[in-house]
Amino acid sequence: MAAVKFISKLLKVEDVNESTKILHFSSPENFEFRAGQYVMIAFYSDGKRILRSYSIFSSPYEKDEISFYLKKVEGGYASNFLFNMNVGDEIEMKGPLGNFVIEESSKNIFFISTGTGFAPFMSMIEELFQKKFSGKIILIRGHRREEDLVCNERLKKISSHLNFEIYNVLSKSENKNYEFKGHVQDFLEEIVPPNFNGDFYICGLKEMVFQVREKLHSLGISDGQIFFERYD
Ligand SMILES: Cc1cc2nc3c(=O)[nH]c(=O)nc-3n(C[C@H](O)[C@H](O)[C@H](O)COP(=O)(O)OP(=O)(O)OC[C@H]3O[C@@H](n4cnc5c(N)ncnc54)[C@H](O)[C@@H]3O)c2cc1C
Repeated sequence: MAAVKFISKLLKVEDVNESTKILHFSSPENFEFRAGQYVMIAFYSDGKRILRSYSIFSSPYEKDEISFYLKKVEGGYASNFLFNMNVGDEIEMKGPLGNFVIEESSKNIFFISTGTGFAPFMSMIEELFQKKFSGKIILIRGHRREEDLVCNERLKKISSHLNFEIYNVLSKSENKNYEFKGHVQDFLEEIVPPNFNGDFYICGLKEMVFQVREKLHSLGISDGQIFFERYD
């Protein structure tokens, strides 16, 4: 679908923690997108127009609304504006945009995210579930603490229907015995199956994306198998 401009209304807000929310917005009739794509949102500050991109967190199968998994960045204009919106408020969007979508050729899929970099993956995982994907899916997502994890129940349900492994890596878990304490890069060697015949999708901030790519290269994974979306 070609990108369209539209005005969207905030329908519902889910608080995740003090700096993260899931925002549900109205979408235009027959709005189509591919899991992994994003929209651009327009903000106005001192007469200047500011554009920021947000991955679509909801799946293409949800009708009449699109949601976003938002992190409030300290001092950031756009993320604070969105974070402080009230249900019923409207905002200008343009989309869908972007090519970060699952390749037709991906036989097995490895997702690696940190923070809100999980957004496009939730949409993709819902799509794989709808399509009854028969390959292996592995998700490693990095967050700070247990309470930062979103969609646990949904992921558990999907994993019981697909060949799907989930690893939640927590940097600040208070559980001293937590098995996956640290950063996503620390666990790749352990979790990436030897001779993994599939593609790697990475999403998050630049530093993590580069470190993960480097680690994957050291495990013999070539760039042809690596797809990524950077948030900065
Ligand atoms: C394709 C794409 C998809 C994106 N999808 C999302 C999304 O689904 N959810 C989301 O919260 N953000 C997403 N972002 C980031 C978003 O576009 C903004 O950059 C972010 O909201 C900060 O904007 P700002 O104006 O508040 O702050 P700015 O002043 O523009 O940014 C300040 C700094 O904040 C850092 N930053 C940017 N995004 C994040 C983040 N998510 N977590 C922590 N630090 C960050 C960067 O280092 C940036 O330089 C996406 C970016 C791109 C390019």
